Amino acid sequence: MGAAKEVGRSAFLMKGDNTSIMLDYGVLLKREPNYPVHVKPKDIDAVIITHAHLDHSGFVPSLFLSQSSDIQVLGTLPTFELSQLLIEDMIKISGYYLPFEYIDLLTMMKHSKSLQYREPYRIKDVTFTLHESGHILGGATVLVEHAKKHLFYTGDINTRGSKLLRPADLDFEALDLMIIESTYSQTEQMPREQSERELLEYACDVVERGGTLFIPAFSVERAQEIACVLKTNNFPHKVAMDGMALKANEIMLRHPGFLRDADMFKRSVGEAEWITGWSRRKKIVKEPGVIISPAGMLVGGSAVFYIQELAKSKKNGIALVSFQGERTPGRELLERRVATFDGKVIKCSADIKRFEFSGHNSRSELFEILDRVKGNPKVLTVHGDEMSCIKFADEIKEKYGYDAIAPNVGDIIEV
Ligand SMILES: [Zn+2]
Ligand SMILES: [Zn+2]
Repeated sequence: MGAAKEVGRSAFLMKGDNTSIMLDYGVLLKREPNYPVHVKPKDIDAVIITHAHLDHSGFVPSLFLSQSSDIQVLGTLPTFELSQLLIEDMIKISGYYLPFEYIDLLTMMKHSKSLQYREPYRIKDVTFTLHESGHILGGATVLVEHAKKHLFYTGDINTRGSKLLRPADLDFEALDLMIIESTYSQTEQMPREQSERELLEYACDVVERGGTLFIPAFSVERAQEIACVLKTNNFPHKVAMDGMALKANEIMLRHPGFLRDADMFKRSVGEAEWITGWSRRKKIVKEPGVIISPAGMLVGGSAVFYIQELAKSKKNGIALVSFQGERTPGRELLERRVATFDGKVIKCSADIKRFEFSGHNSRSELFEILDRVKGNPKVLTVHGDEMSCIKFADEIKEKYGYDAIAPNVGDIIEV
């Protein structure tokens, strides 16, 4: 129903003999958001949310416009708390029309049931389990069993793990259908250690020349991951966090069991300064140190203030650690050293550098998942740009002999 040859609006409707389950129901945020194919809420029994990112969770409230809906929403507890935070924010900042409101989000939350990893759950004649995905806190892959057939959906997956999270828990039997993300199927990312080393050196350079380093980062996962990278590498200078990242910090601190190293997380995030007011915000931009704040692509949040202030001096630095979508202020800054906010063009004198920190598998790691697959599954390559999905499917067909395709929106695949 979405995420076909595109990244965004992930949604897959799984129909069994008596049961219909939606796997993710997200939005594609462009200037105008795109939504997945419409389904009648009464035609589905449940929605499984793999993780809180809006491209997977953002359109679930639209299934609850009628108060009488009896759809179950399933996911882990952190997924629900983080989804609520992100969806609420989307409703708040949307300058565009959204076909649901805050009240529908609340109805959705009333229908939520949180599951543990590896806890089998049954809906009529379908059983499924969630497994740790390594992508963001509470993130899951889904293994579904129905009529002796097995389906595995990767959601967004990271099998290397990170400072924050353990690697994905890959535990599946012979498969009949696999839905696999293709984000970096054609790209090998820079090794993590190298990205960390480069970021650390850059941060030290900027701070030691008396500058402030600003790191715009997505509020969930990336902001915290960067704080942990600095801490575990013994970064000797001040680190501050701001914006919605702080609310995400609080949620994450409540779920230590989902973290790779809860003590390290507490130290990294707890010892950072939490910026909560304008008087402090205005002062800290004049102090040497690191500031981490959303939005990752500079589309809003306190990042807008920080960029405007810190762009003025060449001793300051900006480290871009998140993906920069087309036509976002972040991409403009990277490519043209200017950024436009509310029609005002800011020329950037500060130093700008880009670093690769991704929560997704690289090409070789996606193939490592495929190496472990048993059975002779059909494979659907999704959640990537058109080329990445098509080439990935061709390569899978060639290398493993599986019936692999890059589906289009609306395609029906029978198993
Ligand atoms: Zn994601
Ligand atoms: Zn995604």
